[in-house]
Parts: sequence; structure tokens; C-alpha cells
Amino acid sequence: MPQNSKAILVTGGAGFIGSNYIKMLLETTDLTVVNLDKLTYAGDLRNLEFAESNPSYHFVEGDICDAALVDSLFTKYSFERVVHFAAESHVDNSISNPDAFVQTNVVGTHRLLQVAYKHWMDAPNKFKSGYANARFLHVSTDEVYGTLGAEGLFTEQTPYAPNSPYSASKAASDMLVRSYFHTYGFPAVTTNCSNNYGPHQHREKLIPTIIRSAISGKNIPIYGDGQNIRDWLYVADHCSGVHRALENGRLGETYNIGGKNERNNLYIANYICELLDQKVPREDGQSYKSQISFVTDRPGHDFRYAIDASKITIELGWEAQEHFESGMDKTLNWYLNNRNRLEA
Ligand code: NAD
Repeated sequence: MPQNSKAILVTGGAGFIGSNYIKMLLETTDLTVVNLDKLTYAGDLRNLEFAESNPSYHFVEGDICDAALVDSLFTKYSFERVVHFAAESHVDNSISNPDAFVQTNVVGTHRLLQVAYKHWMDAPNKFKSGYANARFLHVSTDEVYGTLGAEGLFTEQTPYAPNSPYSASKAASDMLVRSYFHTYGFPAVTTNCSNNYGPHQHREKLIPTIIRSAISGKNIPIYGDGQNIRDWLYVADHCSGVHRALENGRLGETYNIGGKNERNNLYIANYICELLDQKVPREDGQSYKSQISFVTDRPGHDFRYAIDASKITIELGWEAQEHFESGMDKTLNWYLNNRNRLEA
């Protein structure tokens, strides 16, 4: 039976978005937060230093594919909420090692669904006593929709057309979640979000790579001609959207989350260089922009992603609080104050 202080299972909470979400939970709710994370190369306990001495926070090192472990956590904490971030998340790695993506993103998501179903429901559409309000939030990506040309936006009706092993594995996991709702009445909601940026992002991703390369005096590598467009969302805005969808989203629905902040990679590199020129000018007086260097494009590189987030705005009242330039200022300040997070 659920205990007094309700418990939430957060998977992948040592990563970029999960750790920001746990921060928000601990600051704004009285939930007991259990973070299950395998601590792959992408997980970093420094992301959770703020939580270490908080009695409402518990860290468990482990794999979401380990059904026995997940089962024991459900037994111990009687979760009524699951927010599932854990994933292999870097497209470049999915090109060189797709196996890990299928294992964690597809098999791992299915293990979680199986265990949650067993603990929450006796049979299809029949909840166990005390679990009628249980909810599972599956965190996914807009990359499942494939690529856009110069015009148009992804809506929740856009057909799935994943182009990388990463997005294909996320699409497969979305379909499993969908099937659990339709087959068993399992209480799931899925969010599909655009590219995030902000504190705690792993050094391998675009924005930390630009900052690291710039301040270490190296070439700033930009794929192809730098014209690829993403719809950038500050991580705290993603976290608030996830939480709204968890608590108030309609079961079985998907919600797109995006910030109406389309920027191409070259704009981002130039903008970060301009901020760095003001905050930490180069000793030779040159702009960091002189370090921008174009490199061979990523195979199958999607041209443009852009989100129509009107469903979550109209139904759940969610809106991004940051625009790209305000969020980037916060992000850059964080990396400049935590420069060791840019190192290997
Ligand atoms: P991340 O790579 O920074 O973090 C992933 C975390 O999951 C790491 O802490 C890692 O140790 C953990 N993990 C990996 N495999 C695991 C396993 N088998 N068992 C337990 N833990 C495991 O990723 P992120 O950028 O924070 O993304 C989180 C989620 O959000 C992912 O599902 C991703 O697909 C989705 N998403 C990310 C973005 C983005 O721009 N970063 C955008 C939309 C959606």
C-alpha cells in the first residue's frame, strides 16, 4: 500500500534533464524521490550534489533492464508516479553503437512498463487498491518525427519517421507505451520534446562542445554548413512541462514540448562566441568566432526540427519561460562557474 509521503521513481536522474527535474521536485513538492540510474558515461553524481543530504532523496545505482531490481524498488517504495528519463541519448553514439540504444531505450522501457503494470494493476483496466491514480510519464523526443523542410511544425499527429538508431529506439519505446495504454488501460502519458540546453548537460553535446572548444582555444566544430535547425528549449522549461503532463495530462495522450526557439547551429556558435567575447574576452582581443570551423557532416543529419506545442499550452497551460538568448546566458554562466564539467 502507498506510504504517507508519496514516492516517485525517476529513472536516469543522474543525467542532464533528470537531475534538473529532481531539483525541481525537491524544491516544489514533498514527494519522496528515488533516482534509479546506471551511471553510464552520461550519468554524473555531481549533478545531484544539491540533493545528497536531503532525506526525501534516495539514489539507487542500477539498470532499468534489471526487472528484479525495479520490482524490489516498487515493493519497497509503493510508487504511484514514474518519470522515465533513462536512455542512451546521443545520436552520434547511436550511429557507432546502436545495440546499447535498443537495449536501454527499448528493452529497458519495456521492463519498467511490465513491472509497473504488475504493481499497479490486477488485470487490464483494473487497478489494485490504492493505485487508481498511478501515473507513468515517458519522456521522449521530437526526433521520432524525422526531419522537416524549411516550413511546417511537428504536431502530435505527425507520422513517426525516425532517421537515426537513437530516434528509432525512442520511437519503439513510445509505441510500447502506447500499446500498454491501449491494451491494458495502463496509465501512461508521453511527452515529445525538442532539443534541450542548460546546466548539467554532458560535455559531448553541441552547446557544451562549443563552449569548451572556445575557451580552451581549440577549433569550434560545426557539422556541415551549420544550417541545421533545432527548436531549443531551456531544460527547466522541459521539466515543468514533464511535470504538468505527469499530473494533468490525459492518459494515453502524447504532448509535444517546445520553445518556439528555432536556431541554426551556426547562429548558436556565433551567439555563444559573442557572449564569451563579453564575459571572458580572449587575451589577443580577437573574437572567439575566429575558432569556428566546419567539419564533415553527421551521416543522415536531419535538417530541421520544430515543435507545435499548442496542445500542451491549451490543455495544460504550459508555456516556456525562457527564450533562447535568456536561457543561453544562464547556461553560459553555469558552465563558466563549473568549468570542470567541460573536462573529460
Ligand atoms: P543523458 O544522456 O544526459 O542522461 C541519461 C541518464 O540515463 C544518464 O544518467 C545515464 O546514466 C542513465 N542511463 C542510461 N542507461 C541506463 C539504464 N540502462 N538504466 C538506468 N539508467 C540509465 O540524457 P538527457 O539528455 O538527460 O535525456 C533524458 C531523456 O530525455 C532521454 O530519454 C532523452 O531521449 C529525452 N530527451 C532529451 C532531449 C535533449 O535535448 N537532451 C530532448 C528530448 C528528449
